[in-house]
Amino acid sequence: MNPFINLGIRHDIVNAISELGFENPTPIQEQSIPVLLTGSNDFVGLAQTGTGKTAAFGLPLLELLDFEENHPQALVLCPTRELCLQITNDIKNYAKKMNNVNVVAVYGGASIQDQLRQIKRGVQVVVATPGRMLDIINRKAIDFSQVKYVVLDEADEMLNMGFQEDIDDILSTTPDEKKTWLFSATMPAEVRRIAKKYMDNPFELTMGEKNTGNANIEHEYYVVRAREKYAAFKRIVDNNPEIFGIVFCRTKIETQEIAEALIKDGYNADSLHGDLSQQQRDKVMKRYRERSLQLLIATDVAARGIDVNDVTHVINYSLPDEVENYTHRSGRTARAGKTGVSISIVNSKELGKIRQIERVIGKKFVKADIPTGFDVCEKQLFALVHKVHNVTVNEQQIEQYIPRIMDEFAELSKEEVIKRFASLEFNRFLDYYKNAPDLNAPADDFRRDGERGERGMRDGNRGGSEYTRLFINLGSVDDFTRGDLLGYICNNAKISGRTVGKIDVKGVYSFFEVNKGDVDMVMNNFKSVEFKGREVRIEISGEGTSSPRSGGDRREGGYQRREGGFNRERSYGGGERREGGFNRDRNKGAGGGGFRDFSGKPREERPERRRRF
Ligand code: AMP
Repeated sequence: MNPFINLGIRHDIVNAISELGFENPTPIQEQSIPVLLTGSNDFVGLAQTGTGKTAAFGLPLLELLDFEENHPQALVLCPTRELCLQITNDIKNYAKKMNNVNVVAVYGGASIQDQLRQIKRGVQVVVATPGRMLDIINRKAIDFSQVKYVVLDEADEMLNMGFQEDIDDILSTTPDEKKTWLFSATMPAEVRRIAKKYMDNPFELTMGEKNTGNANIEHEYYVVRAREKYAAFKRIVDNNPEIFGIVFCRTKIETQEIAEALIKDGYNADSLHGDLSQQQRDKVMKRYRERSLQLLIATDVAARGIDVNDVTHVINYSLPDEVENYTHRSGRTARAGKTGVSISIVNSKELGKIRQIERVIGKKFVKADIPTGFDVCEKQLFALVHKVHNVTVNEQQIEQYIPRIMDEFAELSKEEVIKRFASLEFNRFLDYYKNAPDLNAPADDFRRDGERGERGMRDGNRGGSEYTRLFINLGSVDDFTRGDLLGYICNNAKISGRTVGKIDVKGVYSFFEVNKGDVDMVMNNFKSVEFKGREVRIEISGEGTSSPRSGGDRREGGYQRREGGFNRERSYGGGERREGGFNRDRNKGAGGGGFRDFSGKPREERPERRRRF
């Protein structure tokens, strides 16, 4: 018999989740479903994300609610709209074979009218972020007087983000006799307090050790000089040819800087932060899920609730402000039973923070060395060999060329041919890395390093080259993000991204900087360019600057440098896929996330500071 049936889940739900690939319950589902199905307990579940907790509460809700009635009976509160949409979607999927199940997602950053309309039509399950939920309650647009179950998902995060008061206000509109189910990845005192406040003798379930991260995650740290952080980061990325990672930064600006520097260096990267519109977020996330992006550069809050399986690496480009956030970050990898690596790049002054995190997660970090240039060459070479071995041959198409190819190689032995194919790439790797410096911080340099501070990104362009600021009559109304515009400019002007400085996307126009020497080329090559039937206009704007670019340490550009890098054929323009280097799936033309001019921060991007280092 299907193990979910044994747990007490009915056939039409089991059939639906079987189609989602749920064959056996996860440990948290196994233990919580029977308890929650009784409908008579408050409940506290200490569980990491990725353990299957959505189904752990979602399936019992579907069993317990009366779907012949059309009023709100369950309220799920969660910290971010991303998570809100995910939970809503998941519950709808579990209920695919049931009738009259109405689930509504209530979250900020989207039309409130649509949400109000859905509520009016009748819903039984409301999944909401606290800010927007309270807004709707204050408009007296929802009646929670018959709510039977409240789920507080990622409770620690909601408190982290300062939602305590909102939660109090929301819960005060629900009946006293409702049952409350709380899920949290960590159990700091604040969560304990709300558990005590809202619950009556709750059933407690701890999956794994308290505050302990997922056992499938390896934690590594690298000690580098602050000014070489970006170069070191890239080398770590280069040493992992199949990386599919999330890179965490502390601030929105830092995510933008890193993403831009990476794009310029030819990586498939984009940033995700709280100033993006919902549409922009969705676009970035879609590209990441589809693997068009290899690296997602995110702030803590923006990355909360991201449910992407198969993330191979989490990279802490900057350590989080709060120790607990480390658990959230690293929990983005090693999901659904997979393994993953959480990497921290630190300077010597931050070693104390590593020790502190070790204490909180109850696990030791491994100190790793930044690979040498030769290590990276070797890794890339074998990744290439592996790729050649596994490539799908299009027999029909290649057949006609085979006689000529064989002819060309007739004089060579099999070994010679293989050697030459491998050398084609390997020579370039070797050439690129021949003078690669050791990027590990020497122990006696630690103190000075700390004093020098974190200048790596900002002082990227130490060559101090002169820029000219140009105007272009395209902007965000044309759906250009900074990354898109960079690609568009490089493609049309036929210049390398490395010669482009700051890009400032406005509404109907934008400004960008290029090296003085490239101005004529840009102007000439843009002479007859049209965008959607409109003439593209470039003009020199004001004075030239020698502002520091957002790029990283240029002494080591990664493989993706135009000259000598692996990615000779990098293209920003259309949607075509190009092979070469790591960046197989560059797809700039399709557009990605971006950067919107925005002054007020949404609520969800203003975490209350908690346990700091
Ligand atoms: P969650 O912790 O709810 O975010 O779930 C993490 C991931 O595991 C999601 O992609 C779920 O679809 C998946 N998942 C949850 N329960 C199961 C199960 N019993 N079998 C297989 N996959 C599951």
